[in-house]
Amino acid sequence: MLPSKGSALRNGLEVLDLANLERPALEAALEARGHQRFHARQIFSWIYKRGVTDSGAMTDLSRGLRAALAAEFVLTTPTLARREVSSDGTEKFLLRLGDGRHIESVFIPDTPAMTFCVSTQVGCAMACAFCLTGKMGLVRNLTAGEIVGQVRVLADALALRDKKFNIVLMGMGEPLHNYDETMRALRILADEHGFDMSGRRITLSTVGLLPALERLATEDVMPNLAISLHAPTDLLRGELVPINRKYGVSDIINACRRFPLSRRSRITFEYVLLAGVNDSPQDARQLATLVAAVKSKVNLIPLNAAPGIPFERPSDEVIDRFAKIVADHGVTVSVRKSRGRDIRAACGQLIVEGPKKSAAQQLAVVL
Ligand code: SAH
Repeated sequence: MLPSKGSALRNGLEVLDLANLERPALEAALEARGHQRFHARQIFSWIYKRGVTDSGAMTDLSRGLRAALAAEFVLTTPTLARREVSSDGTEKFLLRLGDGRHIESVFIPDTPAMTFCVSTQVGCAMACAFCLTGKMGLVRNLTAGEIVGQVRVLADALALRDKKFNIVLMGMGEPLHNYDETMRALRILADEHGFDMSGRRITLSTVGLLPALERLATEDVMPNLAISLHAPTDLLRGELVPINRKYGVSDIINACRRFPLSRRSRITFEYVLLAGVNDSPQDARQLATLVAAVKSKVNLIPLNAAPGIPFERPSDEVIDRFAKIVADHGVTVSVRKSRGRDIRAACGQLIVEGPKKSAAQQLAVVL
């Protein structure tokens, strides 16, 4: 096994974590240590395509390089602390990170594809009124290695390494609030010598941090985009998604209109339905009118209720009425089926530890 923690310096060079390195960075690091750059491709293939973490088992590398890898690099991998299976086949994974913190990742089978729902932060600073993760506050950002590490661990645990799967950045955290590490993770996932994931198979869900959204529009690896809208007006959205007080509804819609979309793809607007709060026919009409300006579809998410969340899920009749009004305006609309509620793996139900500061204190910093 490669050691999972190394001392900071060996022979004057920093001991690097392979899990955090994009392939060009690994090539440069190999070169700086007197090895050939092209070995990075082999190492990527061992780690990501084959799930091998022991450099001793990387049999197409010379013995000298294998020894050097063990001495000069580490490879950190989250450890699987608990695995729970829902009656509907959804599985929730509690993963332990190098510093003892925990995150959750979720596997959702047959949606129709296999989907991994991955976290980007421990906790979240956005404090959305209906979300349990928001109650935790932000504990810390994940590294790229920890984001990709969830995919490595789930792929092995589920024996899916050779299969096609989708990734949604819809676990704990706000991906655009951890921009650099999230983008680095996407580039590692996209590497043709590793998981070789197309951006089409990845969906990034965000509350719409505007500067980061504008930056995302310029990236090479382009995920599908989902925007957590949840209300058609600033007044209501400001209550539910506090960051709206900084980046309002019309700013987000305009940014979405400018977002580069390939011919087939559309932006998804997520809309949590809360009984008596944002589920009226007027809300539906306003929502449909608003999103009609964007090549988009609407995904309605009936609230996953939880203790401590001061809202209720609307009745099925209200959900259907809302969906029908949106559809009658010519907008494509779907209702998200709640998965894994019995094991608290559903949207907004991921929570693992108490906050350091209150979520409200943290949000004050972001705003
Ligand atoms: N921070 C990102 C990623 C979270 S994705 C974002 O906000 O988009 C999780 C999705 O589930 C988001 O749309 C979020 O608003 C929604 N959600 C949060 N709590 C929920 C709950 N209790 N019931 C249903 N959906 C919820």
